Amino acid sequence: MLKPTDSCLQLSPPGAHRAVVALGSNLGRRIVYLHTALVALDKIAVGTMQCSAVYETTPVGYLDQGKFLNMVVCLHTYLQVRVLLSYLQQVESDCGRRRIIQNGPRTLDLDILLYDNEYVCYGDLQVPHPRMVERGFVLVPLAELLPEIRLLGGKTVAQLAKTWDTVEEIRYVGRFW
Ligand code: ADP
Ligand code: MG
Repeated sequence: MLKPTDSCLQLSPPGAHRAVVALGSNLGRRIVYLHTALVALDKIAVGTMQCSAVYETTPVGYLDQGKFLNMVVCLHTYLQVRVLLSYLQQVESDCGRRRIIQNGPRTLDLDILLYDNEYVCYGDLQVPHPRMVERGFVLVPLAELLPEIRLLGGKTVAQLAKTWDTVEEIRYVGRFW
């Protein structure tokens, strides 16, 4: 069910949308939280999902916390973007996510990076995710799935990710799904 395919580049089935989601965890059994998130995402996916490898990354913003495991997933879904955000927030909450410190430690963080080619701008939801272009922990795994797409500023994901290639804050762990 979670095997890698090139489905990221395929057109969505009629009525479905391509969503790209970033996963992160730096509290508790991190890999288990990632797995729980993947099972939840698979439930709303049409067809197969495509998963990046897992990376261990140094926190940004609030530094006094453990390292993250990060990955990116591409799926096709019938959920509208706001419904998708609610679904992801419910999965975070089911995994014991508490919002205490901004950018602080979290069992599970699920962010919508891209949704078709749409620009979405609500108070509580912006897509493409506004901070993705500056986050190595998003760009490096995303470059495995969608290297050629252009982000805000005109550069491709591959070009942006390249600047993080040799940075030790982004450490390849392995491919598990
Ligand atoms: P962050 O992911 O930036 O570290 P949080 O997970 O605590 O921070 O999310 C803060 C808020 O960001 C959420 O309440 C959510 O409404 C909002 N948000 C805005 N755009 C997005 C997006 N594309 N994906 C997920 N959350 C988003
Ligand atoms: Mg988030």
